[in-house]
Amino acid sequence: MDQETPNPIELLHWYDRHRRVLPWRAAPGQPPDPYHVWLSEVMLQQTTVASVGPYFTRFLTLWPTIADLASASLQDVLREWAGLGYYARARNLHKCAVVITNDHGGIFPDTEAALRTLPGVGTYTAAAISAIAFERHATPVDGNFERVMARLFAVEVPLPTAKSTLRGLAESLTPTSRPGDHAQAVMDLGATVCTPRKPNCIICPWKRACAARARGIAEKLPRKAPKKRRPTRFGTAYWCMNKKAEVLLRRRPKHGMLGGMLEVPSTGWSSSDTAGSPPFEVDWRPLPGVVNHGFTHFHLELTVRAAIVDTTGDCDGEWFSLKALETVGLPSLMAKVVRHALKNLH
Ligand code: SF4
Repeated sequence: MDQETPNPIELLHWYDRHRRVLPWRAAPGQPPDPYHVWLSEVMLQQTTVASVGPYFTRFLTLWPTIADLASASLQDVLREWAGLGYYARARNLHKCAVVITNDHGGIFPDTEAALRTLPGVGTYTAAAISAIAFERHATPVDGNFERVMARLFAVEVPLPTAKSTLRGLAESLTPTSRPGDHAQAVMDLGATVCTPRKPNCIICPWKRACAARARGIAEKLPRKAPKKRRPTRFGTAYWCMNKKAEVLLRRRPKHGMLGGMLEVPSTGWSSSDTAGSPPFEVDWRPLPGVVNHGFTHFHLELTVRAAIVDTTGDCDGEWFSLKALETVGLPSLMAKVVRHALKNLH
């Protein structure tokens, strides 16, 4: 059978029948809300659709409009973001809401170039918002796009070297009509049919045009350059309780990893396995085991030391009951420290 050229119209027909129902997606025929599109795209960076759903719904309940989000405190936004990770995104989200409300009269700009000037809006997010919310001719190339293009055109050059080639191919397929639906269709195809493992080619709208399928190499693409091993960093968290069984937490500095988030007082994280300095001098008892946590560029191994105290001297911080720790908005790493401490304190 001759191989066809991929036809965006066939993909759009498939999308009209099989599109995913997502909380941030406008129903067919309804105009998309730029606030919803922007919020979901920022939340979806580095995070899965399944994890984002409840966060998106909660944010809209608390802050139904961008003006509501702009008038929220950063601390409240960080608390609600806790668990989604990459906290710079939450700080930029809040900053962006303020900029849109104060400098743009509460209305999102509709071009990629103008969107890219907003805090936390990079190339991908600007393209996604302009295509999906404003029907601009833009191509938001994410991992799904890259996988589908690599297979459709049998690009064997490994990622990340292949990125610009895959982008060019993706852009060449973007139609002038319904570019937003086209972008969402490619994302849906990648998420539900052209999946990383075992692509379901038999039901794919582009199966007759797919070079990788014709050559029987779909599952092998996209090729990826071997990943460098992430280095390990070490640190110590100090679990401090008072006689009322309250736990001492403090806020991390505004900038840097987990900036502005609450933490169990900790040392910095360094490449050598040293205990660092405790927040104040007291008889700290090491707890058995370690807390492991993966960040994008390094692996973190935290030991935990514990003490029961009458006073914390000059250490800044606030006491929280064990119950309050569940709702105070701890980042995932610190939630792990809490679980580890409670399991190993005897
Ligand atoms: Fe992906 Fe298979 Fe469709 Fe090719 S035919 S785009 S490999 S699902």
